[in-house]
Amino acid sequence: MDGTNPAPACAHCSNLAVHACSVCNNAPAYEIPSKNTYYCSTQCQKDDWLTHKAVCKTLKTRKMLFRAGELLQEIFYVYREQVFDKVFVKVEKRDGKMLLHQGEYPPLSKMSNALDLLFPFDPSVVSDPLDKASILTYMACGDAVAWMHDLVKYVLPDLCSKFKEMRVMIQNRERHLVMVTEGEEHSSDQPHCILKVKLKNSDEWYIVDLAGAQYGFFEPIVPAVMYEKSYVRSHIDSHGAEYFGQGKEVLIQFSQMPVLAGNSCKLNHVISEYLMKGVEDWEAEHASTIQGLLGLKEKEFQERRAGLIANVEKWVSSCVKVVKQQGEVIRAKMAAGAIDDKDLVAGGIAIGMDDLKGGGLNAEDVEAFVKAFETRMSDFQ
Ligand SMILES: [Zn+2]
Ligand SMILES: [Zn+2]
Repeated sequence: MDGTNPAPACAHCSNLAVHACSVCNNAPAYEIPSKNTYYCSTQCQKDDWLTHKAVCKTLKTRKMLFRAGELLQEIFYVYREQVFDKVFVKVEKRDGKMLLHQGEYPPLSKMSNALDLLFPFDPSVVSDPLDKASILTYMACGDAVAWMHDLVKYVLPDLCSKFKEMRVMIQNRERHLVMVTEGEEHSSDQPHCILKVKLKNSDEWYIVDLAGAQYGFFEPIVPAVMYEKSYVRSHIDSHGAEYFGQGKEVLIQFSQMPVLAGNSCKLNHVISEYLMKGVEDWEAEHASTIQGLLGLKEKEFQERRAGLIANVEKWVSSCVKVVKQQGEVIRAKMAAGAIDDKDLVAGGIAIGMDDLKGGGLNAEDVEAFVKAFETRMSDFQ
């Protein structure tokens, strides 16, 4: 209650109110801003409960969904920072664009395994946290949908009843990131992967967009009507086949492909398992759950979320460390000429077709696989 607005009236008796319902106050807006419900006394609040109950529950769930979105987005940023796959040496803002100058990548022959696809994110290229978020999510919407899937599936079903993965073409981007390789600009207009969810016991639909920062869409949860009206140029029709978990399934299939991008998926698949472990570990240590965390009062929520994020980061970075050590072992063996196919397979590695063939697949298998994958992809489209 601030001094500029007229004093609120009690929702039950219309007398001058003294407090708002603390469960549902300051809920984020859906199509219209949500109003707080005020009472003159706890007695009036009690007497009004049957009337207020339904709306209160919806607003509480909505508040929790927005918090869940914040948390998931933050976890995705932490994950991307650890599992980064590009080399940027300079970031430049010019003509309304954000130019990402690519650095040098090691030659393929020097790569010991899929791990060499990881390049540490260089925090010195950006100082602004929003710029950083844009870079971390650049071309990573498929990763967000796929590798965050288990966590999303763990957190959101308490709050949402329907899930739909979607691919859309974006419009009205607020940021335009452009990759620059050897002085040449490469602009992209790729499909953007998002998740559409329906809030439990309501008619409210939301878009969960964990990788929207690359377009300047920094809010992880946006009412679907608003998102689709403002940001979506067209939907990519999947003939109703876009089930929850499909993005992950497609990338896991892709990880079997004897190409570098396949290796990147394989690596992400392995490391992303540790996101869930980080959460489980935190829950066990605090005798708490994420759902419990989401329902806390604002101050406590803010205090505790940092601990959760730090724990997830710890697990992911430990996993990256172990994988890196494995890479070093293999690199040393390669240098000594003591590598065989079994080692490569054990390291979860396939640099190219030849390695895969050496690892047990013959040319026909590879071809059949590629065909099956392409069919699968066209189903998906
Ligand atoms: Zn009253
Ligand atoms: Zn309420």
